[in-house]
Amino acid sequence: MARTRSGRGTSLPVPARRSEAVGRGTSSPSSWGFGDGQPVPWEYAPAPEARDVVKLQPRYGLFVGGKEVAPRSGEWFTTIDPATEEPLAEVARAGIEDVGKAVASARRAFRRDWGSLPGRERAKYLFRIARILQERSREFAVLETLDGGKPIKESRDVDVPLAAAHFWYYAGWADKLEYAVPGRRPQPLGVAAQVIPWNFPLLMLAWKVAPALAAGNTVVLKPASATPLSAMLFADVCRQADLPPGVVNIITGPGEIGLALVKHPDIDKVAFTGSTAVGKVIGRAVAGSDKAITLELGGKAANIVFDDAPIDQAIEGVVNGIFFNQGEVCCAGSRLFVQESIAAPFIERLKDRLSTLRVGDPLDKNTDVGAINNAAQLAKIEELIEAGVAEGADIYQPACDLPARGFFVRPTLFTNVAQSHRIAQEEIFGPVLSVLTFRTPSEAVEKANNTPYGLSAGVWTEKGSRILSMVRQLRAGVVWANTFNRFDPTSPFGGYKESGFGREGGVHGLLPYLDAGEGH
Ligand code: NDP
Repeated sequence: MARTRSGRGTSLPVPARRSEAVGRGTSSPSSWGFGDGQPVPWEYAPAPEARDVVKLQPRYGLFVGGKEVAPRSGEWFTTIDPATEEPLAEVARAGIEDVGKAVASARRAFRRDWGSLPGRERAKYLFRIARILQERSREFAVLETLDGGKPIKESRDVDVPLAAAHFWYYAGWADKLEYAVPGRRPQPLGVAAQVIPWNFPLLMLAWKVAPALAAGNTVVLKPASATPLSAMLFADVCRQADLPPGVVNIITGPGEIGLALVKHPDIDKVAFTGSTAVGKVIGRAVAGSDKAITLELGGKAANIVFDDAPIDQAIEGVVNGIFFNQGEVCCAGSRLFVQESIAAPFIERLKDRLSTLRVGDPLDKNTDVGAINNAAQLAKIEELIEAGVAEGADIYQPACDLPARGFFVRPTLFTNVAQSHRIAQEEIFGPVLSVLTFRTPSEAVEKANNTPYGLSAGVWTEKGSRILSMVRQLRAGVVWANTFNRFDPTSPFGGYKESGFGREGGVHGLLPYLDAGEGH
């Protein structure tokens, strides 16, 4: 049985995972005026989102040529709800032959109509998809939460609206490509192979599919095996939008199918989001071919709080930065750097705020931190928490009951962290925050850049000049100032170093799907 803590500020000898001992909300933050460890005199009533807005099929085939087809491999696998560990549906396990069929279908659709369809006509389909996503947003939100474990308030308010927004945005570009590459006649590349992860299944689909289609390419998409269902529901949206058959093809199956897809000789463009390790495998597989490639990989973002920062906002930004989507975010603010002069009170307030986070049923509208996406990821998070303790950092986990079933972990904060600790170096991809301190801006920059990654960073200060100076020095593709985890379809996103290359979002996200073509 996992051990637990009940008093604020207690250090754990080993990380706790589950506890029957202390009820959620039974200890209160001191800032509420109830005093340390005093019971909170009220509790949230359950507010579960209805599950029946989603009609799950018992089985999902592959989406090839505009139709759902059984895999040639004849194999299927089960996708589960990570909050209950119960099976949701069976999903096709594509084989090599299925990859070939999907690529051939995309090629036919590219040659037959999509590649030469006028931009204004392509735009109509994209607008239609955006509108259908909005119309079916509740269905998508519930499905995304069921299959992925993320809190319904996030899938409802972030994942689905942002996915629709990407289709709206790129629909606007479809008939204006010559403005994306001024003075040229840009052309689509052809067939794009797109491999996406499990942390934002629908949103990553939208990041990939919307610019590809706007630019006139056709696609074969492989979702992560842990979260295939929203992609299969998206297949239904494509049918509903009357998208020409073969423009979007979706194949499900293990990583080796993703590799077979990106290696297929009839692929023109590869787009991958996921771990740096797999990104390197894909990079090597594509090297030497004339395929275009973009890789969006891991991160270990620094969130830097100066002593003149708006503290209340900074606390919320730090919490959002690492606990949004259980910290399973490539750009999560997993390393907090606090200026030494405010470190002690800032950390105390942060602990108070952590103790108000509600961990549990992702379908409950009050839940802040849902289930970890899959068992392997939970094991990885627990292993790194143990490593943090073993290497000598101080652990803090607020008291809260975790559900008896499902993949849950307490929000975790480490202080006394050294730069060399694994928890300060490795991407944990979970709700685990490492707190470090600094004295001067240059020390903050040096420590923040001391990572193999370079995806994102945050700066909290009231001085505009300091923001600009930090932005110039931080080696990160995105730097947020006095905010964190803000996404917008018009704004490019991507990394340096081991975080990959290429940009998604904005006009930058369109260019990797275009051949600049001839000059006018
Ligand atoms: P992966 O990078 O393994 O998976 C991402 C996608 O790539 C999935 O669709 C996966 O398929 C596919 N894939 C796996 N192996 C290959 C391969 N050899 N060739 C082509 N495609 C492949 O991420 P994991 O799900 O395994 O997560 C592992 C770690 O990666 C996490 O702990 C986290 O640190 C990091 N990660 C980072 C993400 C990011 O956005 N930066 C997103 C997800 C994870 P399948 O699901 O079938 O294995």
